[in-house]
Amino acid sequence: MESSLPKGLKSLISFFDRLPGIGPKSAARLALYLFQTPQSFLDEFSTAVNQLKNEVKTCSICFNLDDSDPCRICSSEKRNKNRICVVERVLDVLAIESTGKYTGVYHVLGGVINPLAQVGPEELTVEQLMHKISDNPEIEEIIIATNPTLEGEATAMYLKKKIDEDGKGVLVTRIGHGLPMGADLDYADPGTLVQALEGRRQL
Ligand SMILES: [Zn+2]
Repeated sequence: MESSLPKGLKSLISFFDRLPGIGPKSAARLALYLFQTPQSFLDEFSTAVNQLKNEVKTCSICFNLDDSDPCRICSSEKRNKNRICVVERVLDVLAIESTGKYTGVYHVLGGVINPLAQVGPEELTVEQLMHKISDNPEIEEIIIATNPTLEGEATAMYLKKKIDEDGKGVLVTRIGHGLPMGADLDYADPGTLVQALEGRRQL
């Protein structure tokens, strides 16, 4: 069926097909849907795609994404800079922020250690985290909020060991209470996340 499609549609379908969670059928559906929308929508859509890299900044302190660098969490006077919650991805920051209960700052790792996928600590922002800890004598707590998956747990243990090697006796905690094994922070409801944060245990 696809070979009989016009070139313009095929090309768009192949882009959608490369996006996470979208199969060939959904890709075709999305492309056809766009064809039926008014040109003004397409113009706005393409401008948004075009401007994405220009307008969105990576925070140089926590690696969160925002309109400005530093992000609004790192620049807020109200946030406790001595409590750092370490998460895998930007979506996890959004999930924890949606609870409205966390008043510390974040550190986005950019993933988890996964030898099978050839992701080591060097591919993540581990070094920057270590600098942040050693540069700040006031640090109260590092909350490790990687997902409760095998890789997330292994990354948490790796970080704990690494922080201990620093020899400063920084308190390292791990969220978990209420989150089932294999869960994704980003899909957890705010209530479960609050429970997981409040029930964090010392590592
Ligand atoms: Zn930030």
